[in-house]
Amino acid sequence: MKAFDYASPATVAEAVRLVGERPGAGFIAGGTDLLNLMKDGARSHDRIVDLNALPLGDVVQSGGVIRIGALARMADVAAHPAVRRSLPVVSQALLNSASPQVRNMAAIGGNLLQRTRCGYFRDAGSPCNKRQPGSGCPAIDGQNRGHAVLGGSDQCIAVHPSDFAVALLALDAVVLTRGPAGSRRIPLGDFHLLPGTTPDRENVLAHGEMIVAVEVPTTTMAAKSAYLKLRDRTTFEFAVVAVAAALDMRGSVVRDVRLAFGGIATKPWRSPEAEAALRGKAITDDTLAAAGQALVRGAVGRQGNAFKIDLVQRALAGHLRELGGVR
Ligand code: SF4
Repeated sequence: MKAFDYASPATVAEAVRLVGERPGAGFIAGGTDLLNLMKDGARSHDRIVDLNALPLGDVVQSGGVIRIGALARMADVAAHPAVRRSLPVVSQALLNSASPQVRNMAAIGGNLLQRTRCGYFRDAGSPCNKRQPGSGCPAIDGQNRGHAVLGGSDQCIAVHPSDFAVALLALDAVVLTRGPAGSRRIPLGDFHLLPGTTPDRENVLAHGEMIVAVEVPTTTMAAKSAYLKLRDRTTFEFAVVAVAAALDMRGSVVRDVRLAFGGIATKPWRSPEAEAALRGKAITDDTLAAAGQALVRGAVGRQGNAFKIDLVQRALAGHLRELGGVR
């Protein structure tokens, strides 16, 4: 690990200034991802600005939203009574993430910014367009079982690893930021970027801009939501396929639905097409098949990951039957 300066500011404004004024500076909160990347040589900073003294750890419900401070720990958010009651998909996504030790330490702002688990990205000895633009993407013809079938480019097919972001996306959450240019409210669907020709750029944050909170609307549908995560082992493992769903039923008919997916795409993946295929319909084999096909239209499978195209359709169907109480 390279040497770096360390600062622990007492205000958000000071934190923003300390990072914004130096191109090589970066923020740290829980540190559960950043420190591994720095030790592996996959990322380096010459100044680390520690956010943990800032008052950004509260979870507050008011005015039709739950506001979650960026420094709230994953375990605390998952266990918060308002989150469990009004946003069960968020609580479940967090509890299905990482390990108890990591959830006790990791902050939710950093969770949205965590880097991909692509093995080539984390191996500083491998070429990787995301880590070193222009060096190539060995995953496209190499080890790609964990990689994306949606949202990829010929530059990068790495999956976004966050479960929490997938749950937030299904509930139309908004990310609140502070940066050198002021404050912003960014819908989560606009926050993460597709790789395109710039896979090194993963979100819309400017240098020195930090997440201060996320706001999640507490709708009737959000209260009837759930997270399904399929993975190779039952703890401390990333999704092979994940489905976040919120459902509003009138009798046996889907009045409204929100669907977001993890494990299959280069960013948390919303599918308005699959939602449209379900809205106003009963949950049957035919409507579930139509929704699944709408979801995977345009998907690209490779030698290691093509199985996800079928698996995510099965996961969607099973999850909606369970959530809607339809056998
Ligand atoms: Fe790098 Fe993306 Fe290719 Fe993985 S998939 S090696 S992160 S460019």
